[in-house]
Amino acid sequence: MVQHDSSRPTSNHLNTDIRRSAWFTNPLDWRPIDRFMLLASLVLLLPGLCGLALLSTLVVAPDYLDPAVARSLLGLYALHIAVLLGFIVMALRRRQTERDWPTFENVLFAGYVISVMVSAYLTGTQYTLGLLFLFLGVNLTSALASVDKIRRTYWFVIMILLVMAGADVSGAFEHAPLLARSPYEADGSPVPGWLAVQVVIAAILAALIYLCILAVSRWVEREGLYREMSTIDGLTRLTNRSYFIQRGEKELARIQRQPSRQPEALACIMLDLDHFKQINDTWGHQAGDAVLITTSEIMMENARCYDEVGRYGGEEFAILLPGVTLDGAGKVAERLREKISEAVVEVDGHEVRMTASLGVAAYPTTTVDSLNDLLKAADEALYRAKDEGRDRVVLAETEQPG
Ligand code: GH3
Ligand code: MG
Ligand code: MG
Repeated sequence: MVQHDSSRPTSNHLNTDIRRSAWFTNPLDWRPIDRFMLLASLVLLLPGLCGLALLSTLVVAPDYLDPAVARSLLGLYALHIAVLLGFIVMALRRRQTERDWPTFENVLFAGYVISVMVSAYLTGTQYTLGLLFLFLGVNLTSALASVDKIRRTYWFVIMILLVMAGADVSGAFEHAPLLARSPYEADGSPVPGWLAVQVVIAAILAALIYLCILAVSRWVEREGLYREMSTIDGLTRLTNRSYFIQRGEKELARIQRQPSRQPEALACIMLDLDHFKQINDTWGHQAGDAVLITTSEIMMENARCYDEVGRYGGEEFAILLPGVTLDGAGKVAERLREKISEAVVEVDGHEVRMTASLGVAAYPTTTVDSLNDLLKAADEALYRAKDEGRDRVVLAETEQPG
Protein backbone atom coordinates (compact mmCIF):
# COMPACT_ATOMS: atom_id res chain seq x y z
CA MET A 1 0.00 0.00 0.00
CA VAL A 2 1.28 3.42 -0.87
CA GLN A 3 0.92 5.97 1.90
CA HIS A 4 0.66 9.43 0.51
CA ASP A 5 3.41 11.75 1.77
CA SER A 6 3.26 15.14 0.11
CA SER A 7 6.60 16.29 1.55
CA ARG A 8 8.85 13.91 -0.38
CA PRO A 9 11.71 15.87 -1.95
CA THR A 10 12.38 13.87 -5.11
CA SER A 11 13.16 14.98 -8.62
CA ASN A 12 14.51 13.03 -11.54
CA HIS A 13 17.18 15.44 -12.69
CA LEU A 14 17.27 18.42 -10.41
CA ASN A 15 17.40 18.39 -6.67
CA THR A 16 18.14 21.95 -5.74
CA ASP A 17 18.90 22.36 -2.08
CA ILE A 18 16.97 25.47 -1.22
CA ARG A 19 17.93 26.62 2.21
CA ARG A 20 15.63 29.03 3.87
CA SER A 21 16.47 30.78 7.08
CA ALA A 22 13.60 32.25 9.00
CA TRP A 23 15.55 35.05 10.68
CA PHE A 24 16.50 36.84 7.50
CA THR A 25 14.39 36.88 4.35
CA ASN A 26 16.20 37.09 1.03
CA PRO A 27 17.12 40.79 0.48
CA LEU A 28 16.63 40.17 -3.25
CA ASP A 29 12.91 40.00 -2.45
CA TRP A 30 12.97 43.36 -0.69
CA ARG A 31 11.86 46.59 -2.30
CA PRO A 32 14.80 48.64 -3.68
CA ILE A 33 14.48 51.33 -1.02
CA ASP A 34 14.78 48.70 1.74
CA ARG A 35 17.77 47.15 0.02
CA PHE A 36 19.45 50.58 -0.12
CA MET A 37 18.86 51.01 3.61
CA LEU A 38 20.56 47.66 4.22
CA LEU A 39 23.45 48.70 1.97
CA ALA A 40 23.72 52.09 3.69
CA SER A 41 23.92 50.38 7.08
CA LEU A 42 26.72 48.16 5.79
CA VAL A 43 28.53 51.11 4.18
CA LEU A 44 28.37 52.95 7.54
CA LEU A 45 30.94 50.43 8.78
CA LEU A 46 33.55 51.88 6.45
CA PRO A 47 33.78 55.52 7.69
CA GLY A 48 32.90 54.30 11.20
CA LEU A 49 35.72 51.78 11.59
CA CYS A 50 38.29 53.65 9.49
CA GLY A 51 37.50 56.84 11.46
CA LEU A 52 38.01 54.95 14.73
CA ALA A 53 41.34 53.58 13.53
CA LEU A 54 42.46 57.05 12.49
CA LEU A 55 41.35 58.60 15.79
CA SER A 56 43.23 55.97 17.80
CA THR A 57 46.37 56.57 15.76
CA LEU A 58 46.03 60.32 16.37
CA VAL A 59 45.84 59.65 20.11
CA VAL A 60 48.48 56.93 20.41
CA ALA A 61 51.03 57.92 17.76
CA PRO A 62 50.24 61.42 16.43
CA ASP A 63 53.81 61.97 15.16
CA TYR A 64 53.28 59.38 12.45
CA LEU A 65 50.47 61.41 10.85
CA ASP A 66 50.28 64.75 9.09
CA PRO A 67 47.77 66.44 11.48
CA ALA A 68 46.11 68.64 8.83
CA VAL A 69 45.56 65.69 6.46
CA ALA A 70 44.36 63.49 9.35
CA ARG A 71 41.82 66.11 10.43
CA SER A 72 40.52 66.52 6.87
CA LEU A 73 40.15 62.75 6.55
CA LEU A 74 38.29 62.59 9.87
CA GLY A 75 36.06 65.37 8.55
CA LEU A 76 35.37 63.35 5.40
CA TYR A 77 34.43 60.27 7.47
CA ALA A 78 32.16 62.36 9.70
CA LEU A 79 30.48 63.88 6.63
CA HIS A 80 30.04 60.41 5.10
CA ILE A 81 28.46 59.09 8.28
CA ALA A 82 26.16 62.13 8.52
CA VAL A 83 25.04 61.81 4.88
CA LEU A 84 24.36 58.07 5.23
CA LEU A 85 22.42 58.51 8.48
CA GLY A 86 20.48 61.39 6.94
CA PHE A 87 19.53 59.31 3.91
CA ILE A 88 18.58 56.32 6.06
CA VAL A 89 16.24 58.53 8.12
CA MET A 90 14.72 60.09 4.97
CA ALA A 91 14.35 56.61 3.40
CA LEU A 92 12.52 55.38 6.49
CA ARG A 93 9.91 58.06 5.83
CA ARG A 94 9.82 57.59 2.07
CA ARG A 95 9.39 53.82 2.23
CA GLN A 96 5.78 54.37 3.35
CA THR A 97 4.91 55.75 -0.07
CA GLU A 98 7.73 54.83 -2.47
CA ARG A 99 9.48 51.58 -3.27
CA ASP A 100 12.53 52.97 -5.08
CA TRP A 101 14.82 55.97 -4.59
CA PRO A 102 17.53 56.20 -7.26
CA THR A 103 19.18 59.27 -5.65
CA PHE A 104 19.86 57.23 -2.52
CA GLU A 105 21.47 54.54 -4.65
CA ASN A 106 23.69 57.12 -6.41
CA VAL A 107 24.72 58.69 -3.09
CA LEU A 108 25.60 55.24 -1.72
CA PHE A 109 27.85 54.51 -4.67
CA ALA A 110 29.51 57.92 -4.79
CA GLY A 111 30.04 58.03 -1.00
CA TYR A 112 31.60 54.57 -0.90
CA VAL A 113 33.91 55.21 -3.86
CA ILE A 114 35.04 58.62 -2.49
CA SER A 115 35.64 57.31 1.06
CA VAL A 116 37.60 54.26 -0.09
CA MET A 117 39.63 55.99 -2.80
CA VAL A 118 40.54 59.06 -0.74
CA SER A 119 41.59 56.97 2.31
CA ALA A 120 43.52 54.55 0.12
CA TYR A 121 45.28 57.39 -1.72
CA LEU A 122 46.18 59.16 1.55
CA THR A 123 47.77 55.99 2.95
CA GLY A 124 49.36 55.02 -0.36
CA THR A 125 47.37 51.77 -0.64
CA GLN A 126 45.05 52.70 -3.52
CA TYR A 127 46.42 50.03 -5.86
CA THR A 128 46.10 47.16 -3.39
CA LEU A 129 43.94 47.46 -0.29
CA GLY A 130 41.94 50.33 -1.75
CA LEU A 131 41.04 48.39 -4.85
CA LEU A 132 40.24 45.27 -2.84
CA PHE A 133 38.02 47.28 -0.50
CA LEU A 134 36.30 48.96 -3.36
CA PHE A 135 35.52 45.88 -5.38
CA LEU A 136 34.50 43.69 -2.50
CA GLY A 137 31.95 46.38 -1.76
CA VAL A 138 30.99 46.53 -5.41
CA ASN A 139 30.62 42.73 -5.57
CA LEU A 140 28.35 42.81 -2.57
CA THR A 141 26.33 45.58 -4.11
CA SER A 142 25.87 43.69 -7.41
CA ALA A 143 23.21 41.55 -5.79
CA LEU A 144 21.38 44.50 -4.31
CA ALA A 145 21.73 47.48 -6.64
CA SER A 146 21.74 48.31 -10.34
CA VAL A 147 24.37 46.29 -12.21
CA ASP A 148 24.66 49.03 -14.85
CA LYS A 149 25.71 51.58 -12.27
CA ILE A 150 28.19 49.12 -10.81
CA ARG A 151 29.73 48.58 -14.25
CA ARG A 152 30.03 52.34 -14.81
CA THR A 153 31.59 52.75 -11.36
CA TYR A 154 34.11 50.03 -12.16
CA TRP A 155 35.34 51.76 -15.31
CA PHE A 156 35.31 55.17 -13.60
CA VAL A 157 37.53 53.91 -10.78
CA ILE A 158 39.89 52.11 -13.16
CA MET A 159 40.28 55.38 -15.08
CA ILE A 160 40.96 57.35 -11.88
CA LEU A 161 43.55 54.75 -10.84
CA LEU A 162 45.31 55.02 -14.20
CA VAL A 163 45.42 58.81 -13.87
CA MET A 164 46.73 58.47 -10.29
CA ALA A 165 49.36 55.97 -11.38
CA GLY A 166 50.53 58.44 -14.08
CA ALA A 167 50.62 61.28 -11.55
CA ASP A 168 52.45 59.09 -9.01
CA VAL A 169 55.10 58.10 -11.54
CA SER A 170 55.60 61.69 -12.72
CA GLY A 171 55.77 62.92 -9.12
CA ALA A 172 52.80 65.30 -9.55
CA PHE A 173 51.10 63.89 -6.41
CA GLU A 174 52.68 63.34 -3.05
CA HIS A 175 52.55 59.62 -2.22
CA ALA A 176 50.74 58.67 1.03
CA PRO A 177 50.33 62.28 2.28
CA LEU A 178 48.60 61.14 5.50
CA LEU A 179 51.80 59.54 6.77
CA ALA A 180 54.35 61.99 8.21
CA ARG A 181 56.76 59.15 8.99
CA SER A 182 57.17 55.72 7.55
CA PRO A 183 55.08 53.24 9.54
CA TYR A 184 58.00 50.80 9.30
CA GLU A 185 61.12 50.91 11.47
CA ALA A 186 64.59 50.88 9.91
CA ASP A 187 64.75 47.11 10.40
CA GLY A 188 61.52 46.75 8.41
CA SER A 189 59.19 45.91 11.35
CA PRO A 190 55.87 47.80 11.42
CA VAL A 191 55.18 50.19 14.30
CA PRO A 192 52.46 48.81 16.63
CA GLY A 193 49.87 51.45 15.71
CA TRP A 194 50.21 50.69 12.00
CA LEU A 195 49.99 47.00 12.73
CA ALA A 196 46.77 47.63 14.69
CA VAL A 197 45.30 49.59 11.77
CA GLN A 198 46.19 46.72 9.42
CA VAL A 199 44.45 44.26 11.73
CA VAL A 200 41.32 46.46 11.78
CA ILE A 201 41.39 46.67 7.97
CA ALA A 202 41.78 42.88 7.75
CA ALA A 203 38.75 42.47 10.03
CA ILE A 204 36.65 44.80 7.85
CA LEU A 205 37.78 42.99 4.70
CA ALA A 206 36.96 39.62 6.27
CA ALA A 207 33.47 40.88 7.15
CA LEU A 208 32.99 42.21 3.61
CA ILE A 209 34.13 38.92 2.09
CA TYR A 210 31.69 37.04 4.30
CA LEU A 211 28.85 39.35 3.25
CA CYS A 212 29.84 38.80 -0.40
CA ILE A 213 29.59 35.04 0.16
CA LEU A 214 26.14 35.50 1.72
CA ALA A 215 24.97 37.71 -1.15
CA VAL A 216 26.27 35.34 -3.81
CA SER A 217 24.81 32.27 -2.10
CA ARG A 218 21.40 33.98 -1.96
CA TRP A 219 21.74 34.74 -5.62
CA VAL A 220 22.68 31.15 -6.46
CA GLU A 221 19.77 29.90 -4.35
CA ARG A 222 17.34 32.11 -6.25
CA GLU A 223 18.85 31.02 -9.56
CA GLY A 224 18.25 27.39 -8.53
CA LEU A 225 14.66 28.16 -7.58
CA TYR A 226 13.93 29.79 -10.94
CA ARG A 227 15.56 26.94 -12.80
CA GLU A 228 13.50 24.46 -10.84
CA MET A 229 10.30 26.42 -11.39
CA SER A 230 10.88 26.44 -15.13
CA THR A 231 11.67 22.73 -15.46
CA ILE A 232 9.90 20.82 -12.68
CA ASP A 233 6.22 20.14 -12.13
CA GLY A 234 5.35 21.42 -8.66
CA LEU A 235 3.00 18.57 -7.66
CA THR A 236 4.78 15.45 -8.86
CA ARG A 237 8.35 16.82 -9.02
CA LEU A 238 8.66 15.28 -12.48
CA THR A 239 10.00 17.18 -15.46
CA ASN A 240 7.33 19.48 -16.86
CA ARG A 241 6.02 19.32 -20.42
CA SER A 242 8.25 22.00 -21.93
CA TYR A 243 11.44 20.59 -20.40
CA PHE A 244 10.41 17.08 -21.44
CA ILE A 245 10.01 18.23 -25.05
CA GLN A 246 13.32 20.09 -24.90
CA ARG A 247 15.12 16.97 -23.63
CA GLY A 248 13.41 14.83 -26.32
CA GLU A 249 14.49 17.20 -29.08
CA LYS A 250 18.08 17.18 -27.86
CA GLU A 251 18.10 13.39 -27.59
CA LEU A 252 16.72 12.92 -31.10
CA ALA A 253 19.09 15.52 -32.57
CA ARG A 254 22.03 13.68 -30.98
CA ILE A 255 20.88 10.33 -32.42
CA GLN A 256 20.24 11.80 -35.86
CA ARG A 257 23.72 13.34 -36.00
CA GLN A 258 25.38 9.95 -35.54
CA PRO A 259 26.77 8.67 -38.84
CA SER A 260 25.93 4.96 -38.32
CA ARG A 261 23.54 3.24 -40.75
CA GLN A 262 21.50 1.80 -37.90
CA PRO A 263 20.54 4.79 -35.73
CA GLU A 264 20.19 4.36 -32.00
CA ALA A 265 16.61 3.75 -30.82
CA LEU A 266 14.51 6.20 -28.83
CA ALA A 267 11.18 5.08 -27.38
CA CYS A 268 8.37 7.06 -25.84
CA ILE A 269 5.63 5.84 -23.54
CA MET A 270 2.52 7.98 -23.03
CA LEU A 271 0.44 7.14 -19.99
CA ASP A 272 -2.99 8.46 -19.09
CA LEU A 273 -4.84 7.51 -15.91
CA ASP A 274 -8.22 5.93 -16.54
CA HIS A 275 -11.39 7.66 -15.39
CA PHE A 276 -9.32 9.99 -13.30
CA LYS A 277 -12.12 12.51 -13.18
CA GLN A 278 -14.15 9.94 -11.26
CA ILE A 279 -11.38 9.64 -8.66
CA ASN A 280 -11.51 13.41 -8.16
CA ASP A 281 -15.30 13.40 -8.08
CA THR A 282 -15.57 10.45 -5.69
CA TRP A 283 -12.67 11.02 -3.30
CA GLY A 284 -11.87 14.69 -3.74
CA HIS A 285 -9.14 16.67 -5.43
CA GLN A 286 -6.64 15.87 -2.69
CA ALA A 287 -7.07 12.14 -3.35
CA GLY A 288 -6.61 12.88 -7.06
CA ASP A 289 -3.34 14.67 -6.27
CA ALA A 290 -2.17 11.73 -4.15
CA VAL A 291 -2.90 9.36 -7.04
CA LEU A 292 -0.88 11.59 -9.39
CA ILE A 293 2.05 11.61 -6.95
CA THR A 294 1.94 7.83 -6.51
CA THR A 295 1.82 7.31 -10.27
CA SER A 296 4.84 9.56 -10.69
CA GLU A 297 6.70 7.61 -8.00
CA ILE A 298 5.96 4.29 -9.71
CA MET A 299 7.20 5.75 -13.00
CA MET A 300 10.41 7.05 -11.42
CA GLU A 301 11.06 3.74 -9.68
CA ASN A 302 10.73 1.88 -12.97
CA ALA A 303 12.78 4.25 -15.09
CA ARG A 304 16.54 4.28 -15.60
CA CYS A 305 18.51 7.31 -14.47
CA TYR A 306 18.97 8.57 -18.03
CA ASP A 307 15.28 8.12 -18.97
CA GLU A 308 13.21 11.29 -18.82
CA VAL A 309 9.95 11.00 -16.91
CA GLY A 310 7.64 13.95 -17.38
CA ARG A 311 4.19 15.14 -16.45
CA TYR A 312 2.77 15.82 -19.87
CA GLY A 313 -0.60 17.22 -18.85
CA GLY A 314 -3.15 16.92 -16.02
CA GLU A 315 -3.19 13.12 -15.55
CA GLU A 316 -1.05 12.34 -18.55
CA PHE A 317 2.59 11.30 -18.18
CA ALA A 318 5.34 10.46 -20.64
CA ILE A 319 8.67 8.64 -20.49
CA LEU A 320 11.48 8.97 -22.98
CA LEU A 321 13.67 5.88 -23.15
CA PRO A 322 16.96 6.41 -24.99
CA GLY A 323 18.42 3.28 -26.59
CA VAL A 324 15.18 1.28 -26.18
CA THR A 325 13.24 -0.25 -29.09
CA LEU A 326 9.47 -0.50 -29.49
CA ASP A 327 9.37 -4.04 -28.06
CA GLY A 328 11.60 -3.14 -25.12
CA ALA A 329 9.49 -0.08 -24.32
CA GLY A 330 6.35 -2.25 -24.61
CA LYS A 331 7.70 -4.45 -21.80
CA VAL A 332 8.49 -1.43 -19.63
CA ALA A 333 4.98 -0.10 -20.28
CA GLU A 334 3.40 -3.43 -19.34
CA ARG A 335 5.39 -3.50 -16.10
CA LEU A 336 4.23 0.06 -15.34
CA ARG A 337 0.62 -0.81 -16.07
CA GLU A 338 0.79 -3.75 -13.66
CA LYS A 339 2.46 -1.75 -10.89
CA ILE A 340 -0.11 1.05 -11.22
CA SER A 341 -3.07 -1.33 -11.18
CA GLU A 342 -1.66 -3.06 -8.07
CA ALA A 343 -1.06 0.17 -6.17
CA VAL A 344 -3.44 1.26 -3.44
CA VAL A 345 -3.31 4.88 -2.34
CA GLU A 346 -4.55 5.57 1.14
CA VAL A 347 -6.09 8.99 1.61
CA ASP A 348 -7.89 9.89 4.84
CA GLY A 349 -8.51 6.23 5.62
CA HIS A 350 -9.89 5.47 2.14
CA GLU A 351 -8.23 3.06 -0.24
CA VAL A 352 -8.09 4.48 -3.73
CA ARG A 353 -7.13 2.29 -6.70
CA MET A 354 -6.32 3.30 -10.24
CA THR A 355 -5.49 1.95 -13.67
CA ALA A 356 -3.74 3.50 -16.64
CA SER A 357 -3.72 3.20 -20.41
CA LEU A 358 -0.40 3.38 -22.19
CA GLY A 359 0.68 4.05 -25.77
CA VAL A 360 4.18 3.20 -26.96
CA ALA A 361 6.08 4.41 -30.02
CA ALA A 362 9.74 4.35 -31.03
CA TYR A 363 12.27 5.91 -33.38
CA PRO A 364 13.43 4.95 -35.99
CA THR A 365 10.48 3.87 -38.08
CA THR A 366 9.20 4.97 -41.48
CA THR A 367 6.57 7.19 -39.90
CA VAL A 368 8.62 8.67 -37.05
CA ASP A 369 11.24 11.17 -38.06
CA SER A 370 10.86 13.96 -35.51
CA LEU A 371 10.01 14.28 -31.84
CA ASN A 372 6.60 15.54 -32.85
CA ASP A 373 6.03 12.34 -34.88
CA LEU A 374 7.19 10.23 -31.93
CA LEU A 375 4.86 11.95 -29.45
CA LYS A 376 1.99 11.85 -31.90
CA ALA A 377 2.48 8.12 -32.58
CA ALA A 378 2.60 7.37 -28.82
CA ASP A 379 -0.50 9.51 -28.27
CA GLU A 380 -2.43 7.73 -31.03
CA ALA A 381 -1.48 4.36 -29.53
CA LEU A 382 -2.64 5.63 -26.13
CA TYR A 383 -6.03 6.60 -27.51
CA ARG A 384 -6.37 3.20 -29.14
CA ALA A 385 -5.72 1.71 -25.67
CA LYS A 386 -8.55 3.88 -24.33
CA ASP A 387 -10.87 2.80 -27.18
CA GLU A 388 -10.05 -0.86 -26.68
CA GLY A 389 -11.21 -0.74 -23.05
CA ARG A 390 -8.45 0.99 -20.98
CA ASP A 391 -5.97 -0.57 -18.47
CA ARG A 392 -3.81 -1.82 -21.33
CA VAL A 393 -0.69 -1.16 -23.40
CA VAL A 394 -0.89 -0.56 -27.16
CA LEU A 395 2.18 -0.35 -29.40
CA ALA A 396 2.20 2.11 -32.31
CA GLU A 397 1.61 0.41 -35.67
CA THR A 398 4.82 1.10 -37.50
CA GLU A 399 7.07 -0.48 -40.07
CA GLN A 400 10.79 -0.63 -39.53
CA PRO A 401 12.75 1.51 -42.02
CA GLY A 402 14.74 -0.02 -44.82
P1 GH3 B 1 -10.10 8.85 -19.46
O1 GH3 B 1 -10.09 7.50 -18.88
O2 GH3 B 1 -10.79 8.93 -20.75
O3 GH3 B 1 -8.71 9.40 -19.54
O4 GH3 B 1 -10.95 9.75 -18.47
P2 GH3 B 1 -10.40 10.78 -17.41
O5 GH3 B 1 -11.49 11.05 -16.43
O6 GH3 B 1 -9.12 10.30 -16.83
O7 GH3 B 1 -10.06 12.04 -18.29
P3 GH3 B 1 -10.66 13.48 -18.34
O8 GH3 B 1 -9.83 14.22 -19.34
O9 GH3 B 1 -12.14 13.46 -18.54
O10 GH3 B 1 -10.39 14.10 -16.91
C1 GH3 B 1 -9.15 14.42 -16.46
C2 GH3 B 1 -9.30 15.07 -15.08
O11 GH3 B 1 -8.00 15.31 -14.48
C3 GH3 B 1 -9.99 16.38 -15.14
C4 GH3 B 1 -9.14 17.30 -14.28
O12 GH3 B 1 -9.90 18.01 -13.35
C5 GH3 B 1 -8.20 16.37 -13.57
N1 GH3 B 1 -6.93 16.96 -13.24
C6 GH3 B 1 -6.05 17.56 -14.06
N2 GH3 B 1 -4.98 18.00 -13.38
C7 GH3 B 1 -5.16 17.67 -12.07
C8 GH3 B 1 -4.41 17.85 -10.87
O13 GH3 B 1 -3.31 18.41 -10.85
N3 GH3 B 1 -4.93 17.36 -9.72
C9 GH3 B 1 -6.15 16.73 -9.71
N4 GH3 B 1 -6.59 16.26 -8.56
N5 GH3 B 1 -6.88 16.56 -10.80
C10 GH3 B 1 -6.40 17.01 -11.98
MG1 MG C 1 -7.43 10.08 -18.09
MG1 MG D 1 -6.12 12.86 -20.10
